[in-house]
Amino acid sequence: MELLKNKKNKSILISGGSISGLSTAYWLAKYGFNVTIVERATHIRPGGQAVDVRGTALEVAERMGILNIIRNNSTKLTGMSIVDAITGDEIFRNTEQTLTGGRHDSPDVEILRDDLCRVLFETIGNQVKYIFDDTILTIDQDNEGVNVTFAHAATQRFDLIIGADGIRSNVRRLIFGSDDKFIRYLGHYVAIFTMPNYFELDHREMIFQHEGTPLSVCIVKDKNAEARTYLGFNSDEPLHYDYRDIKLQKQLIADKVPNVGEKIRKIKELMQASTNFYFDSVNQTIMDAWSKGRVSLVGDAGYSVSLTLGQNTSVAMVGAYILAGELAANIDDLQTAFINYENELREYVVSNQKLAFDTRTEPTTSLEQTPEDKTTINATDMPDFGQSVIPLILKKYQ
Ligand SMILES: Cc1cc2nc3c(=O)[nH]c(=O)nc-3n(C[C@H](O)[C@H](O)[C@H](O)COP(=O)(O)OP(=O)(O)OC[C@H]3O[C@@H](n4cnc5c(N)ncnc54)[C@H](O)[C@@H]3O)c2cc1C
Repeated sequence: MELLKNKKNKSILISGGSISGLSTAYWLAKYGFNVTIVERATHIRPGGQAVDVRGTALEVAERMGILNIIRNNSTKLTGMSIVDAITGDEIFRNTEQTLTGGRHDSPDVEILRDDLCRVLFETIGNQVKYIFDDTILTIDQDNEGVNVTFAHAATQRFDLIIGADGIRSNVRRLIFGSDDKFIRYLGHYVAIFTMPNYFELDHREMIFQHEGTPLSVCIVKDKNAEARTYLGFNSDEPLHYDYRDIKLQKQLIADKVPNVGEKIRKIKELMQASTNFYFDSVNQTIMDAWSKGRVSLVGDAGYSVSLTLGQNTSVAMVGAYILAGELAANIDDLQTAFINYENELREYVVSNQKLAFDTRTEPTTSLEQTPEDKTTINATDMPDFGQSVIPLILKKYQ
């Protein structure tokens, strides 16, 4: 394999412009690589509820110089309520922690996915080229580089390709094989969408539960903002549906989430009108190797932990830091860069994936233990995923 000699002359294409793609691009551009991002959406893809920057990812954010910015843009939720979906009664209230964000006094940052993407995008500025509204069709590697064809843009040649295109990664499919080889289904489906602040929340989280199971979670960062809403259901087997057909996916979730109570019915109605809708199963990506030739994967594409644990974003930011750092440190030897990337990150990923698997039913179990007295504040009844996050000691690059 050709030796990489000069970062400035080395061009890297990243597929996917979300958390892992933008984070990787930030570091690679900082180290002097010539970076292009191809993103299927027409701009940085909006949507989602809150994500968490925890543990080692806080250190990465600090090294990126964005920790204070993301703290300033965090959800700053002041508490949560659990509401009986049928009666509409509040059955539990907590002002010390939330289900999604953990304890208020922890150093972790809960931030809307859109806000984190915006901060990353703005921090990168014009150091990276973007090709929006496009996707890679073919990747053809040889000893000196990679030829890439796109659905719309002209064919280009790069030194390296990074797949940061999420759980259904296009790059992974093209280079490593079909999704079913790598995706471990965790038995749950989620829809995440924006809707009007119908429940008039302000820096609060409201969980609608039925028979001990949370069916929907609404987060409102500011009383004038939209509600970021989750609807979910369990399914023993993965469902087969068209990943591109949003109308059908909305119908699917409307059919699967039981029609219990007026509030769930209203949420479903508002979901139908939402223009910002995300739907997928909750999965892990399990791979023996994240790199092949001149292609490597980062974030959910290579090692999704589980969306419901809220740890994917942190793992993606840490993975991006290590991949870019190893590429910069081993500019003359791609293979060493990829081996080091695996060696530095693998244990962290495996531990986080084990944690997600072990705790995947924990919220349901805990929420069943809601106290009778709705004013009781009992933080210990709630799972706090942030507490169990596995740390990693980061190398310093350059
Ligand atoms: C719309 C949306 C909403 C989400 N909401 C939440 C949430 O509420 N809570 C949570 O914990 N996690 C959420 N996630 C997942 C979360 O962002 C990731 O688990 C985590 O941050 C790791 O990010 P990632 O960049 O690896 O993957 P993702 O965030 O999934 O990003 C993948 C990116 O690749 C792009 N892409 C996909 N296919 C192609 C292609 N063929 N060509 C080019 N680009 C492509 C996508 O448009 C997207 O921008 C959401 C993801 C998305 C896309």
